This record gives sequence, C-alpha cells and structure tokens, in this order.
Amino acid sequence: MDIKKFGVIGAGQMGNGIAQVAAASGLQVLMSDIKEEFVEKGRANIAKNLDRCVEKGKLDAVEREAILARIQTTIDLGDMASVDFLVEAAVERQDLKFKVFRDLDDICPAHVILSTNTSSIPIGRIAAQTKRPDKVIGMHFMNPVPVMKLVEVIKGLATSPETFETTWNLCLKFGKTPAEANDFPGFIANRILMPMINEAIFCLYQSVGKAEDIDTVMRLGMNHPMGPLALADLIGLDTCLAIMETLYDGFKDSKYRPCPLLRKYVEAGWLGRKTGRGFYTY
Ligand code: NAD
Repeated sequence: MDIKKFGVIGAGQMGNGIAQVAAASGLQVLMSDIKEEFVEKGRANIAKNLDRCVEKGKLDAVEREAILARIQTTIDLGDMASVDFLVEAAVERQDLKFKVFRDLDDICPAHVILSTNTSSIPIGRIAAQTKRPDKVIGMHFMNPVPVMKLVEVIKGLATSPETFETTWNLCLKFGKTPAEANDFPGFIANRILMPMINEAIFCLYQSVGKAEDIDTVMRLGMNHPMGPLALADLIGLDTCLAIMETLYDGFKDSKYRPCPLLRKYVEAGWLGRKTGRGFYTY
C-alpha cells in the first residue's frame, strides 16, 4: 500500500511526537486536535524538538524547515478524509476513542487503516466500533516518540495480515523497531510496566520510602534509566490511572487495583509534568 499522507488524531505529547517522526520520514502529515490552541501547542513542541536536534548537529536547518512544512494541522476531523493511514493518539478514555473511531469510519475511505496508540484498551473493542475491523490495529509508540526505538504492534482478533504488514513496514520506515503483541489489556509493555509503577506508588503511599529514594533504588539498583515515579510523571498520572483501570476491569484480578494515592493525585489535577505537579514539582 502506498502511503503518502499520514493522519494523527490528538496533538498532545504522543500525537505531536508521532507527527514529527512521520514527517521526518518524508510523509505528509495532518495532525488534528479539538482546539486550535492544542494543535498550535503540538506544533510548537515539534519546532522546539527540531531546534534541539539542529543545536546538537543531528539535523540541518534546511531539513528542519522541510519537516515542519510537511506537517499540516486541523481541528476538523472531517479533513482526515484525505489521509492514507491514520494513528489515533487522543486521551486514554474508552468512550472517547469509541466515538472517534465511529466518526473516522464514516469519514475515511474504506481502504484506510485506522491504528490506535492506546496504551491499554483492547484493539478488538475499538475495532468493533467500525465496519472495517480487519483494518484496525494497535501502533503503540513509546514516550518520547522521537527518542524511543520501540513500537508495539498489536493485532486484534480481526486484524488482517495485510494491515499488520503495512503497519510493521511503516514502523521500519520511521526508523523504529517493532515488536508484535496479541490483544489483551495493556498488551506487553503496560502489562509489565504499569503494575511496577503502581507498586512504586504503593511504596510511597505506605511510606516504605520517599519518592527520591524509591526512584534511586530502581535507577541504581535495577539499572533503570528513570525511576518509576519520575516515569509516571512523564507518562501522565491520568494515563497511568486509566491503564491500571483497564487492567483491573479487563482481568478482574485484584493485583491490578490502582493505588489510592494515584487516584488522589489525578483527582487533584496533579497529572505530572504536563501540569507542573505530580510526584515531583516541575
Ligand atoms: P495528552 O493528554 O498529552 O494528549 C491527548 C490529546 O488528545 C490532547 O491534546 C487532547 O486535547 C486531545 N484530544 C482529546 N479528545 C480528542 C478528540 N476527540 N479528537 C482529537 N484529539 C482529542 O496525552 P498523551 O500522553 O499524548 O496520550 C495520548 C494517547 O497515547 C493515549 O491513548 C495514551 O494512553 C497513549 N500513550 C501515552 C504514552 C505516554 O507516555 N504518555 C505512551 C504511549 C501511549
């Protein structure tokens, strides 16, 4: 399948990173969000990231301009009628993703693959909202997208081999390393990562250690590049809670219960780096 124009739904930290990587690979990109200020913020973040690459000598100024010129933005989902492949990176809420996929199914031509960057929601559930479940797939990038090599590619029960192959090849075109996962809540990455983060939050909740000490133990003791609480702040505590809820609901196993402290922070609007306050202050 010849993909020239790539659509990204959601211009948040993941959406703008995906748009940057797709544009850097030479594709035309259309990035959408629900408000002009959100797409502008996404575009500004891409420009800032590319500036950093120029400063470090990893990118020349002409190429920076070319990448930015390949990224168009919109707040009209209907404009996605013009793309050849699409990844949805809106907030991690099942009801919202269901609606977006129903709308996209009406908007996009029948051959277009509708992928999702969901961290945890089963692909089959999202695919069932459309009349093209064979063309729905998980394309789960890691944060920060321009830096992290991995993309988890998740097959729903109905995902066709052609859809899988196209998505896999797109990961390679983006310079990423894909890994294949089957469709269970949280897939591979967050099935393993998020219970560890949740357990770190329980350690804080039960005063086993202070945030800095919990992170130091995991960084220096386990050789993790970031401690789990700092990583939770980077991911977004709302997203962490949503993933734990999906694991808990999906498996009905108490080992996935979200830590009450995580819920308390989210309810207070302490969502991590994106709001300036989480387990640390930014
Ligand atoms: P974010 O809060 O930074 O961005 C989400 C964006 O979606 C916001 O700009 C919001 O305005 C927009 N949005 C909300 N409703 C929309 C709609 N109907 N149409 C278009 N845009 C809409 O969140 P994020 O961290 O970028 O996460 C986005 C997705 O990526 C989630 O599904 C999340 O689980 C997944 N993900 C996140 C990470 C991470 O580390 N944060 C990693 C991998 C995957």
